[in-house]
Amino acid sequence: DIGMKKHNFSAGPSILSEYTIKNTAAAVENFAGTGLSILEVSHRGKEFVAVNDEARALIKELLDVPAGYEVVFMGGGASMQFCMVPYNLLNKKASYLDTGTWASKAIKEAKLFGEVDVVASSKDANYTYIPKNYKVAEDSDYFHFTSNNTIYGTEMRYDPDMKVRLVADMSSDIFSRPIDISKYDVIYAGAQKNLAPAGVTLAIVRVDALEHVDRPIPTMLKYKTHVDKDSMFNTPPVLPIYSALQTLKWYKEQGGVAVMEKKDKENAAILYDEIDRNKLFKGTVAVEDRSIMNVCFIMNDEYKDLEDEFSKFASAAGMVGIKGHRSVGGFRASLYNAMPKSSVEALIACMKEFERTH
Ligand code: PLP
Repeated sequence: DIGMKKHNFSAGPSILSEYTIKNTAAAVENFAGTGLSILEVSHRGKEFVAVNDEARALIKELLDVPAGYEVVFMGGGASMQFCMVPYNLLNKKASYLDTGTWASKAIKEAKLFGEVDVVASSKDANYTYIPKNYKVAEDSDYFHFTSNNTIYGTEMRYDPDMKVRLVADMSSDIFSRPIDISKYDVIYAGAQKNLAPAGVTLAIVRVDALEHVDRPIPTMLKYKTHVDKDSMFNTPPVLPIYSALQTLKWYKEQGGVAVMEKKDKENAAILYDEIDRNKLFKGTVAVEDRSIMNVCFIMNDEYKDLEDEFSKFASAAGMVGIKGHRSVGGFRASLYNAMPKSSVEALIACMKEFERTH
């Protein structure tokens, strides 16, 4: 079976559904009966236009996107959104919550466009928790937060109530829960976790929020350009969009994002239970802020010198991508939507066996 030979816990690019991989592979050979590879067809041909339209429509359907919003596909990764958001929305001042590396990169870019109020930061504790008590100035153009901190394994699984416009980087947890889109002006996400291979970036934008700044915006960096041209202003990343459509169809067939959430929560719960139970390991994050997408854990102090050995043991058992990010150390198991429970169970079995023999 494609994709099932190893247990893929990579943080991103990461595991995709077998459905996505198989259908993408087939389209690389012969796309939509054209007799051509999807790699060599015109993006203006009716077959690809249909893919682009269906993918955006399915995102609207799966996330229950209300009227007045548009879904756009762009290049540049989530990192490009770090500057596009302030370019398009920041007139004078914006508020940001600093919950990790990606949040700070977004903050750095916003500072190029105006005043940035960092309302709170958990940097003092190596980003192991989500700050709770902070105030967002009512004269801020928007409040920006990162819903899931891929590197540190903390997550905000709710849509905050704000008096100002709300913007979120949902790169690593979009499609893992229903979202109240109506609270947001912009949601953006790189594709390479819960959607598709890298190369396409998704944004859900409130159309009437897009023309509030006075500055001229370069055409490609202006959300309105992509909204007006149905994400076809220039040549879009055709293959990632095709793959995205496969993933979206698979989500629909599975029952939608609420079903994904249930499964993701179950996967995370059994792994956190094992981390809490096993004498060798401990979680790195405040329990109430634990991410269900990226589970970070380290070895308890008295077993620290076993880290390399466990790494080797786990990789011999078929585990891939569990090394923690260098800024946290230890281990990180990413449990995105396509993660089968059997892989989580295999990792848990590995942890139990290693404990038994040490
Ligand atoms: N934001 C978050 C939460 C991420 O996890 C990442 C990448 O892992 C990024 C932004 C950067 O995304 P990209 O590499 O698509 O620019």
